[in-house]
Amino acid sequence: MKTLQEYLDDAAVAHGHLCAGQVLGVRMAMHGLRKLGLEDPQGKDRKRIVTFVEIDRCATDAVMVVTGCRLGKRALKFRDWGKMAATFIDVETGKAVRIAAKESSKDLAKTMYPEITDKNQQQMKAYREMTDEDLFQAQPVHVKLPPEEFPGFKGDRIVCSQCGEGINFKREVRQGARILCRACAGDRYYEPVT
Ligand SMILES: [Zn+2]
Ligand SMILES: [Zn+2]
Repeated sequence: MKTLQEYLDDAAVAHGHLCAGQVLGVRMAMHGLRKLGLEDPQGKDRKRIVTFVEIDRCATDAVMVVTGCRLGKRALKFRDWGKMAATFIDVETGKAVRIAAKESSKDLAKTMYPEITDKNQQQMKAYREMTDEDLFQAQPVHVKLPPEEFPGFKGDRIVCSQCGEGINFKREVRQGARILCRACAGDRYYEPVT
């Protein structure tokens, strides 16, 4: 594993700037991987990590930098829960740990550096120095990961009987004898413009 500073340098490049969220995300991922005993995420442990993130903010980019998990590799899963938390899974052992940032860390940052009035600067400095225990809640968990959730999964591609678009990874919906994509089954985030 690289050092905190090395990961922060990488994260600043990947994310475009260094911010409190980057510090939190880097430390969250380092803490999670250490709890699983995965010391070499860029090397020999590269293919055994799957990460669920629960927020799409600055910290998410930092988690990606440390774990190497990417959406396009199917190793990064996003659950839009708006929580500063992530679950790290070792797919080889099945061991998993969910790391959540403590709400109290913001107040702690304030008491540590009351003289720094810029919140981002204050938290950036404090989050580097706090103990893992002050920053995070860690909980061993079990994550059900069916075969189609694994990075290397190859399955049959199926065609939606309504729109004709292809569907991967068992994301189809069966309604009686009909096979539908999620959008045609009613689960859509867009409405066609007519
Ligand atoms: Zn940021
Ligand atoms: Zn469809």
